Amino acid sequence: MKTYQITVLKGDGIGPEIVDQAVKVLDKTAEKHGFAVSYNYALLGGAAIDAAGVPLPEETVAACKAADSVLLGAVGGPKWDSQPGHNRPEKGLLGIRKALGLYANLRPAVIFAPLRDASPLKPEIIGESLDIMVVRELTGGIYFGDRGTQEQNGVKSAYDTERYSEPEVERIARVAFDMAMKRNKRLCSVDKANVLDSSRLWRAVIDRMAKEYPEVAVSHLYVDNTAMQLVRDPGQFDVIVTSNMFGDILSDEASMISGSIGMLASASLGDGGLGLYEPIHGSAPDIAGQDIANPLATILSVSMLLRYSLNEPAAADAIEKAVSQVLTLARTKDIYTEGCGAKLVGCKEMGDLVAAQI
Ligand code: NAD
Repeated sequence: MKTYQITVLKGDGIGPEIVDQAVKVLDKTAEKHGFAVSYNYALLGGAAIDAAGVPLPEETVAACKAADSVLLGAVGGPKWDSQPGHNRPEKGLLGIRKALGLYANLRPAVIFAPLRDASPLKPEIIGESLDIMVVRELTGGIYFGDRGTQEQNGVKSAYDTERYSEPEVERIARVAFDMAMKRNKRLCSVDKANVLDSSRLWRAVIDRMAKEYPEVAVSHLYVDNTAMQLVRDPGQFDVIVTSNMFGDILSDEASMISGSIGMLASASLGDGGLGLYEPIHGSAPDIAGQDIANPLATILSVSMLLRYSLNEPAAADAIEKAVSQVLTLARTKDIYTEGCGAKLVGCKEMGDLVAAQI
């Protein structure tokens, strides 16, 4: 039987609770779909600072590199807020993405039918359903460009630089075009080409690559217009591709359309199959250890892991279907409303229900 090696980084706060549920669901899915999974647990973030003094120990990097894929809970919490900047839990997250060469961040913004009423948008704006994939460049742009703070005549100034090379744009565009081909063949590239040189280069590369994908309908939107269109008519989008900073902002906006932060998965991919899969939310220290966290974002991250790293699409579909079915029966506190017709359950029971539904 085929056995996949998964390195698991539970992290901090609710990380361990939600990851345990995701592992439970993955085990059940493997059993039903004829493959096996072997887990290797490693430390990241605050847990790693406590055990090894650093947020990203060498052994963790080695364990991730040796795996078929990596599943992460979340990192951080008030316990480590007094750590110096270079040794904070979040540094571990940036460090592992860099060490694994993960340059593409995929964030689906999906509304499951039973949760339509959880969206802050009116039902007539959402339409029947919503399924957007935001592809964000993750290792370039202004977050990694030249920066500095200067003082002249007692006046301080600071600068950050947005820089993209053609190969950097090409590789993220390739991920987005391939994604569009697997979906509804519509790709919207977002930039600020009316102002920024880096955006004009970005747009030129997208247009050049569009010739390789004649089946994909390509459009360009300025980032300010995109922010508006996402709440005006989100159904117009299939795949969105954009730079690191624009993607950071737009993916948060797109994800909130779907109602709850506890429902949203993400994937970070590089070349080759290896990827890092995690919920988009943080470690939620305010609810950690109370068995009330929503594990579905992490469970849906496992579905993405199966689809994009392990090439097990039937198993990935089975998890999404199980989640959708369970939402009609049970909800965790963050997505529960009086009269929704579903039972209020905790983190563990939600994991049990999804596993039972597979
Ligand atoms: P957060 O996402 O942890 O929490 C925001 C709010 O959403 C909280 O009220 C929390 O209870 C709720 N929430 C989050 N996930 C939930 C879930 N699965 N089920 C139910 N409710 C959920 O963001 P924050 O409070 O700004 O940050 C807390 C810590 O997490 C900080 O240390 C921050 O740096 C870290 N963080 C980590 C990541 C990551 O690991 N990728 C991302 C964001 C924040």
